[in-house]
Amino acid sequence: MCIKRDKLYEILLDEELTDMIVKNVKTSSRMRTLLYNLRRSNTLKEGLLNGNISPEYFAKDMTHEEMMPRKQEQKIVPINDDRDGLVKCSRCDSMKTEYTEIHSLEYTTFLVYCKSCNHTSKI
Ligand SMILES: [Zn+2]
Repeated sequence: MCIKRDKLYEILLDEELTDMIVKNVKTSSRMRTLLYNLRRSNTLKEGLLNGNISPEYFAKDMTHEEMMPRKQEQKIVPINDDRDGLVKCSRCDSMKTEYTEIHSLEYTTFLVYCKSCNHTSKI
């Protein structure tokens, strides 16, 4: 555990935070996971350093998916979500829509999907 503690400290450069994490890590494979994710995520590192992520939670309960939210940007609101969307459907005037932003160099396009009539339109 000693060598890994040093590695953790190398990344965080914070003695107290490092100790709090090490204290709460139960297994060395868990420690490996934490080190692996910390090396690859500045968001995670900053979250711990500025206190947005609790070191206890990080050490014990945080899942791999929470540490590395790779697919977060593409996450679409589930279809059975019945709340009104922000955009009105151009075909049936329903507000039960969801949209995806598509960025290109010159402009941003919104793809609007209507849950009432399954119509998809670009705006
Ligand atoms: Zn519609």
